[in-house]
Formats: sequence, C-alpha cells, structure tokens
Amino acid sequence: MCRICTDPIEALVGLTKLDCSFCPHLTAIPAELVHLRELSCFHCSRLASIPGALTELVRLDCSYCPLLASIPDTLVRLATLDCAECPLLASLPGALPLLVWMDCSDCPLLVSIPCTLVALAVLYCCSCPRLASIPDTLACLTFLDCSGCRRLSAIPCQLTTLKELHCTHCPLLASIPSTFTRLTLLNCSGCRILASIPPPIHGTLRYTLHYNCPWLPENASDYPNHMPSLLRLQRWFRTGKKQVFTRWIRTRAFNEWIFHPDRIGGKLVKRHMEAELGAMRPAKQQRAQ
Ligand SMILES: [Zn+2]
Repeated sequence: MCRICTDPIEALVGLTKLDCSFCPHLTAIPAELVHLRELSCFHCSRLASIPGALTELVRLDCSYCPLLASIPDTLVRLATLDCAECPLLASLPGALPLLVWMDCSDCPLLVSIPCTLVALAVLYCCSCPRLASIPDTLACLTFLDCSGCRRLSAIPCQLTTLKELHCTHCPLLASIPSTFTRLTLLNCSGCRILASIPPPIHGTLRYTLHYNCPWLPENASDYPNHMPSLLRLQRWFRTGKKQVFTRWIRTRAFNEWIFHPDRIGGKLVKRHMEAELGAMRPAKQQRAQ
C-alpha cells in the first residue's frame, strides 16, 4: 500500500514528491496533489488515469500500468516521461514543450509520437508494433532507440543531431540517412533489408553493429565488423545457394562497392567467386545427366 491509500489527503496536499509504485490498490491519484513535481506510480495494476490538475509535474514515471489508457495534455512542465509497457496507451500528449527524455517502449497500441515534442533529446520507443514513423521535427534529438518497431520503414533525414541510434530488428527499414553526420554509435543489426548506412564522416562514427544485415554492402570495407557479410556471401556461394549469390551480385550497391577503385580485394573476391561459379555449372549438369 502507498501513502495515497493510507494517509489522509490533508497530509499529502503539500507534497512535491511522491512514490506510490507497486501499489496493487491504487486506482486514482487525487487531483488535490497540485504541488507534485515528481510522481512515480509504476507497476500500479489498477491505476487507470493521471489527473490533469498535476500541472507542476516535472518527472512522471507511470510505466507498467496495465489499465492506464491516457496521459493528460495539461502537464506542460514535464521534462521526463516514462510510460513504457502500458498496454492500453494509444497516444501521447502533444503539449509537452519542455520534455527532454521519454520512454514509450513496448506500448502495443501506440500509433504515433507527437511532432510537437521539440525539446526531446532522448527517445526510447522500442517494440511499438503500430508505430510507423518518427516525426522529423525532433530538432534536439541526440539519442534514439526504435529497435523492434515492425512497421517503421524510415528514420527522417532531418534528425541530424543524432549521436546514437539503435534500430535493430526493424524489418521494413531500408536505409539510414547519410545526413546523420554526428553519429558516434549505430546499431542496426538484424535489419534484413537495410541496404545503406552513413559513411564514417570525419571519423565521428566510432562504432557500428550490423550483424544479420545481408543487403548492406555499401562502405563495407570501412567498417571492420562488417566483414561477416562478405564471409556470409562466400558461405552462400560455397554451400550452393547460387540464387542468393547471383541476386546479391546484381544489386547496384554491391557493384558500387566491389568496383570502387579502393576495393581491389573485393574485386578479386568477386572474380574468384565467379570463376568458382563457372566451374560449378558443368559439375551440376553432369550430375543431372
Ligand atoms: Zn496505494
């Protein structure tokens, strides 16, 4: 039980900070608590709403509340909002001009992030299966984790302030904009159709993780840990997955990479593999006869 359940309301009205997390009885936050600046009410299994009168709130953690369906639009001073794992939350308030940190991950009904969150610097929105886009107006965003968003097909090229981007396992994501020149960390592993990532301009991109991105050949030799892709290509070829190999070498991105003047090694690899492919054909025909 939390203080809201046990204390008289007169004892609480002056509070600026309140933690009523993990209370199985709490169904509502009293609207009289207008002085609250920090409220933690995560893991409250019966909490269905946050009163709109709490306009002084700067920090709100209402994550893991299974009955919470909305967050009021009046919390204009909010700087930090954690509403992850709220299965009924279908939308986020738009009028949060001071919000700098937000986690709305694992909200299965959430369809969009308001384009008005202009101060937002850190945005976690992982595993939101209905989220199809990220607003291009988040001009202060330095960190984004949108991993596991199955409907996300693009990250806006306007988000040029990004320094760290995690977008693993986004099956519709085909490219990472080359305008992200301030990126220092990119984690895009498991993006099955991702075909291009930004070049490591001026060495800002210190670290990339891109395993299981079979269509990502561009600039591959610039990223040391990209080599598994080339190894995988050779493995496809050697294990007889000829169709995959031939489809892959026909892509423009692969040929731009392989015929780049600096990629002599890559050109040799391709010639070698083509020679091997040629040598395999008669052997297969003989077997067919
Ligand atoms: Zn309680």
